[in-house]
Amino acid sequence: MELILTNLLLIVLGGSLGSFASMLIYRLPLEDVGISLFKPRSFCPVCKNKLTILQLIPFIGYISTKGICQACNARISPSYLINEILIAALVLFIFYTMQLSDPRAWVVILIVMCLYVQSLIDFQTMHLFQPLSIILVLSGLILNILTGFFTIPLDSLLGLIFGYGLLFCINEVYKLIRSRDGIGSGDFLLLAGIGAIFGASAIGPILLVGSSITLLLYAVNKEKDRELPLGFGLGIGAILYCLLFIFFSNT
Ligand SMILES: [Zn+2]
Repeated sequence: MELILTNLLLIVLGGSLGSFASMLIYRLPLEDVGISLFKPRSFCPVCKNKLTILQLIPFIGYISTKGICQACNARISPSYLINEILIAALVLFIFYTMQLSDPRAWVVILIVMCLYVQSLIDFQTMHLFQPLSIILVLSGLILNILTGFFTIPLDSLLGLIFGYGLLFCINEVYKLIRSRDGIGSGDFLLLAGIGAIFGASAIGPILLVGSSITLLLYAVNKEKDRELPLGFGLGIGAILYCLLFIFFSNT
């Protein structure tokens, strides 16, 4: 009974965090057009009708309306439900591979959330939200300096410098050849954050997986003239690395 209750609480927590992630992914890129994080209240993107309390409840909101706006019958993107399911699965995985009582699990959840939101914002808008990368840098440095969870403090610091410097240098070389930026500066700070969290030695594999994911996306995408969202690949690559790391260090 206790186990069922714990699982249920973790699913509710994960679903709520997934719903929060959806809000960040939708609203952060719209800050310039007067939509802030908490105002106005959640609304249908088509008819702007405000959502009811029931529609705001994770999982239930989407399923009860069958993904259709009750006011204008517009189809609501299933991405809201997918975010809730994926984040709930990630929360369950993190708490079950680490200990429920381990406070570091909360920092890992914060890191995974920031990576997830950054990836999807980059995928949709080709922009990264710098404050989220700064949270990644700080949480990586603090976690490793205080607990050495992912790596030793020196490696964390080197990861920060190497992560930023590597993409900066690649971009400088690209600029010399093509006279324009090849990589957005947002990607430098994102890889700096990833380096601060997982250490300098993790940057190579994450960059390899990340750029492969981005290239795969390019291969399946029909709009070949579209820019490539490197941050999307880096974020997903870093989440995979994080999950593998906690799985193998706790089994
Ligand atoms: Zn509507």
